[in-house]
Amino acid sequence: MEKVIIVRYAEIHLKGKNRGYFERVFCINLEKALKGLRHELRRTSGRYLVANFEEREADEICDRISRVFGVHSFSKGYRVPNDLDHILEAALLICPESGTFKVDTHRADKKYPMTSPELNAEIGARLLQAHSALRVDVREPQHVVYLDIREDGTALVFGVFEEGAGGMPVGTSSKGVLLISGGIDSPVAGYMMAKRGMEVEYLHFHSYPYTNEQARDKVIELARILSRYTGGESVSTVKVTHIQEEIHKKCAPELNVTLLRRFMFRIAERIAKRKGAKCLITGESLGQVASQTMEGITSSNAVVTLPVLRPLIGFDKEEIIARAKKIGTFETSVLPYEDCCTVFLPEFPAIKPKLSFIEEEEAKLDVDALTDEALSSLERFALR
Ligand code: ATP
Ligand code: MG
Repeated sequence: MEKVIIVRYAEIHLKGKNRGYFERVFCINLEKALKGLRHELRRTSGRYLVANFEEREADEICDRISRVFGVHSFSKGYRVPNDLDHILEAALLICPESGTFKVDTHRADKKYPMTSPELNAEIGARLLQAHSALRVDVREPQHVVYLDIREDGTALVFGVFEEGAGGMPVGTSSKGVLLISGGIDSPVAGYMMAKRGMEVEYLHFHSYPYTNEQARDKVIELARILSRYTGGESVSTVKVTHIQEEIHKKCAPELNVTLLRRFMFRIAERIAKRKGAKCLITGESLGQVASQTMEGITSSNAVVTLPVLRPLIGFDKEEIIARAKKIGTFETSVLPYEDCCTVFLPEFPAIKPKLSFIEEEEAKLDVDALTDEALSSLERFALR
């Protein structure tokens, strides 16, 4: 009898001819997630088995698997030869000694001498014999013993389907640069795109010394939490202090945020192109603040040619918060350090700035020189 963790994948089967590619990336991602923990990853038809792990690390392995996109579900269980005695031996370890239960068999091996209902009845009867305090309830059992009769002469025996993260393997949907602030929204936006298979690069803007190192460390911590799903390795930071000072000095105050956002997009696009990324990702949500109106979006899109993905555009704040709590970024996001957007924040930011007015104000700045100068401040911080 062998202890295993059974991993089933999600949408990969949809991809027809590309299936082989999706499965390879999925397998690489699983290996990356399990790095540093003793294990053996085996591919069997339609699922993966994690075997040869340390018993005391089983929960850690499951925890890591639960964050790999493409995983539909996973189960701790046993792999045994497919005869009744061995199956029963494993079933006894899965099924508690009292309460209600049923046996639920899936037979991939259609040549197996017993049908699924026959197996359910036989193993069920043997379990009842072994434990007098057990009762069968096929409709609402407290416990289920799942039997999966494989085609290679083995059976998988397990008790629970744990929900996986779903989505598609990271790396199968191109690469994007996530503009990550220390806020609640942008980490969730990165999570959403990674869930659809996008590789995410992290880019953060700071305005040191107006913003401090704690604010930067907070963003690095957010990216580290996210990287457990997205697999990123580092955060790039760019200093926009001089840009903000220039805007503050020379331009209409109500356009502060709008103009800064345009610089952020230009810089992000330059970095994206260097990294082979195909889009920018932001945490904007329609109407959430003054700069997130259609006019604001139009103004920032106007300075880039790459598509800008805004996966939270139709989300309410509560929905975003719920998601942030689920993925584990919320607690860090609400730490009270200042973001560069709150430095020089005007009292009345323009809600519907006209593009012609924005361009007029922006013409007072040396946009190219300021962009180049900011790019030269690029730094990288490793996540581990
Ligand atoms: P968040 O919670 O992500 O900070 P927000 O609701 O506070 O979002 P804004 O501050 O208006 O919204 O920022 C909108 C988007 O612009 C953010 O979601 C993020 O993608 C990007 N952004 C804002 N500030 C920064 C920053 N300092 N560095 C990188 N990206 C930023
Ligand atoms: Mg913010």
